[in-house]
Amino acid sequence: MRILVVEDETAMAESLRTGLEAEGFAVDVAADGEEALWYADEVAYDAIILDLMLPKVNGFVVCRTLRDNDNWTPVLMLTAKDGHLDEAEGLDTGADDYLTKPFSFVVLLARLRALLRRRGRGQERPTVLRAGALSLDPARREVHHGDEPVALTAKEFAILEYLMRRAGDVASKADIMANVWDFNFDGDPNIVEVYIRSLRKKIDERFALTTIETVRGAGYRLIDPATSRPETEPNGTGNRSDGPSDARAEG
Ligand code: CA
Repeated sequence: MRILVVEDETAMAESLRTGLEAEGFAVDVAADGEEALWYADEVAYDAIILDLMLPKVNGFVVCRTLRDNDNWTPVLMLTAKDGHLDEAEGLDTGADDYLTKPFSFVVLLARLRALLRRRGRGQERPTVLRAGALSLDPARREVHHGDEPVALTAKEFAILEYLMRRAGDVASKADIMANVWDFNFDGDPNIVEVYIRSLRKKIDERFALTTIETVRGAGYRLIDPATSRPETEPNGTGNRSDGPSDARAEG
């Protein structure tokens, strides 16, 4: 697989190149935003690791320009620890995931692999996912219920995307962790519950739906009205299990 690393700090760029090459990736390095756009135009990369703060053209603009030019290569955006992450999550940059500096190479590698698994190879525009009136556009990073836009954070979006891709099947917390975070995430697996709760608040409660079902002891399942049985009432009957009730999500 061929990766483009866009990073103006030479030491960081070279350490990423060395590490990724040791893992079997082919790596090109661009030192500024203009060079990044040139490379991305010339080569079909499997993924782009894109620093946010860059000379000439910053990472936000690089990513937006790629998408405007119909380039859908998965982008892992590197952000600083001083609040750019929140900023990045709030902006529609078209990046697929974010990693805050400083990070360990092991974590970067895991996030990159999770991204490649999630998005697969290729330059094609990802298909819009649908479940009933709910639609998720992986390329535009947009979620709608009917015509109503639903604003989600990057992690909420990634979890919903994962559940929608396997609508009707049960996803365990471990599945979700492995695909949305990475194998080396050492936090509490119950973090998944926090995000599920937040998604339910933003989608199910807002639109009076039961979209994400808890399968006790197994995980979560996205209910697709198109494939579920008719007796599954969209409004539910109040017996939905939410698991432990002490978790609270901040949007
Ligand atoms: Ca930089």
